[in-house]
Amino acid sequence: MTASASVASPAPPQVLLAHHLRQLKLPTFLREYEKLAAEAAREGLDHVRFLLRLAELELIDRERRMVERRIRAARFPAVKSFDTFDFAAIPSLNKPLVLELARCEYVATHENIIALGNSGTGKTHACLALGLAACQRGFTVSFTTAVGLVHQLMEARDEKRLLKLQAQLAAVKLLIIDELGYVPLSQTGAELLFEIFSQRHERGSTIVTSNLPFEEWTSVFQSQRLTGALLDRLTHHVHILELNGESYRLKQSKARRQRDGRSAKSESAKTISTS
Ligand code: ADP
Ligand code: MG
Repeated sequence: MTASASVASPAPPQVLLAHHLRQLKLPTFLREYEKLAAEAAREGLDHVRFLLRLAELELIDRERRMVERRIRAARFPAVKSFDTFDFAAIPSLNKPLVLELARCEYVATHENIIALGNSGTGKTHACLALGLAACQRGFTVSFTTAVGLVHQLMEARDEKRLLKLQAQLAAVKLLIIDELGYVPLSQTGAELLFEIFSQRHERGSTIVTSNLPFEEWTSVFQSQRLTGALLDRLTHHVHILELNGESYRLKQSKARRQRDGRSAKSESAKTISTS
């Protein structure tokens, strides 16, 4: 073997740079640096400004990726925001309070929210929007239904990993428990759920939605003592949202039917006049 054949040519700097940027977890730097370098050369930008632009792009992208990660981790059944929420449709809801809550200061101060109202009035939509706002503001969020959470807790208990699940649930900054009240809970279920509220008390924020007024919560927990203790913790620092009114879906389908009825009438009127 000749000496010259065994000498490997050094890797071009682009290859090494790509490798280092991947190791440093700077994907936007890697994706953008050539384009930005060409731009900087055209505009006569100095090195510091070129680096500054790259660093800013990386930061913006990193923030976006983190928000996306928090949204995925929250396990929302759908991503909804207040942009698509029609406040005029639900006059009982305190709009200024909701917009204030969307700024998420209550999460930092470990306050709770309870949204009460009959079915179809936008409780889930509103708490999804609050959850999304919290993800965008850097808080960890977890979304679940009361029944789903109780199932999870019972399963964890049977599999001897209850403590781990409780620790996870206590650590999340905003826990959203939707649909408390549709199904009565077993005694064990009620106690396990109570423990979650108790562990989160003054340590994290919890949003609960329910179709039942407080007076009827005993029918879910099947114990006056437990319901009292739970309400005591949950309502210590609480914002109450009232969503009472006609179901949004029902109202929309009525409006659609009326529209269809009107256009059918005008169609038949047209047919008569032209015949
Ligand atoms: P709830 O949880 O109170 O039963 P939902 O939030 O599930 O009600 O609302 C039912 C449907 O109507 C959802 O698709 C929701 O997005 C929509 N909806 C309800 N209220 C409003 C509103 N005020 N503006 C826009 N969409 C609404
Ligand atoms: Mg709902």
